[in-house]
Amino acid sequence: MGLLKHSDVYWSFIGQCTQCGYCTGACTSLTNNDITLGGIARALLAAERKASTLEELRDNIMADESLVNAVRGCFFCTSCKNTCFAHNDVCDLIYHARVDFLNLGLIPREAYSSVMVDEEWDIFTAYRAIHGIGYADLTRHRAQEGAEAATDCDVAFFPGCSLAAYGPELTREIFETIDGFSEKATMLDSCCGSSLKSAGFFERAEALCDRNAVEIEQSGAKRLVCVCPGCANDMKAALSARGLDIEVVSLSAFLSENGFTPKRPLPETPLVFSKSCQDRDGRYLEETCGALGVDPETPAIFRGCCGAGGAVSAFAPERQAAQADSKLSFVPDGATVVSMCPTCTYTYAYRLMESPRDIQSKHYAELLFENQFDWDLTFAQLGGMWCGEYGAWLAQVFA
Ligand code: SF4
Ligand code: SF4
Repeated sequence: MGLLKHSDVYWSFIGQCTQCGYCTGACTSLTNNDITLGGIARALLAAERKASTLEELRDNIMADESLVNAVRGCFFCTSCKNTCFAHNDVCDLIYHARVDFLNLGLIPREAYSSVMVDEEWDIFTAYRAIHGIGYADLTRHRAQEGAEAATDCDVAFFPGCSLAAYGPELTREIFETIDGFSEKATMLDSCCGSSLKSAGFFERAEALCDRNAVEIEQSGAKRLVCVCPGCANDMKAALSARGLDIEVVSLSAFLSENGFTPKRPLPETPLVFSKSCQDRDGRYLEETCGALGVDPETPAIFRGCCGAGGAVSAFAPERQAAQADSKLSFVPDGATVVSMCPTCTYTYAYRLMESPRDIQSKHYAELLFENQFDWDLTFAQLGGMWCGEYGAWLAQVFA
């Protein structure tokens, strides 16, 4: 093996890339750094060729500002892939580049220490512990005091880390509804591991999804209901890798097939749907329009990431803000932007708090159910955690 762990991936990417430059035109990061995706692979291999030690390799990469910016500034939104006639897999390229960056010490620990979601404490579990948010009564497939682990569940619910942490009442309301449409439901309050992939811990992210797959199998569930398209994609891959015959369905599709009626009227403000970059074929968006009873032709923002993908905020927070602004710029004043992924809802709400505009940020589940996110409270509590009685503990855990 050479100095780069994944040089084979870069060689094979170059083999597929004609340097046509279409991907560059599709991405502000690639444009700003005047590089193509194939150029990223070439630059990594060039840095390796000129090095005889890991230190030299690290120095060579660090000296190539465009390369560093393009690898660490990637949102994993796949907008570029959609323009590539060769269908080159951008995520595969950049995930592997992040692994090499991590191995070379080019991603500092503070960039990911609070989102190691396969460890006991991450920002979500810490928030839940500090604010008394727990779901032991809903995770029926796990043994509890006085109750054995259930193995006869038919449906498992996967809210994802943001919803489970920042929307506990909404999470419970969704679970109760799913449970009402099932023989016996259970809940996985775990994470799909996308933040691990962003930090270069690709194998740990896959291992986390595999652990989730084992739990679902042991619960007996034959269907997994996911709120977020990103969780759904990762869990589909993990279940299929294990050869499990467990269907992954969107919350919207599950509700529609069970004849669910939204528990509140639609907002009177115009709605603008934000397509998640993980919702590659637009199916989540379409199924959500169906569950809400709105015309699928309702205006939607299609292109690019909300700014949360790829942990870009830990590298270039101003780029994350600019990306959120760019998507929100398509939302007229007085309208509500409706996202498919709770992390997008969080990101837009955070940006609207930093730079107020007459726009509401809602997750589609908030239009279907009674309970809502309270972002003012969540942001205040998140900020307060670091200076309150738990501040020293958090600083130590996430050092
Ligand atoms: S669009 Fe595809 S083929 Fe063209 S430069 Fe980008 S990665 Fe290479
Ligand atoms: S995935 Fe998105 S951010 Fe990353 S290179 Fe492609 S278009 Fe740019």
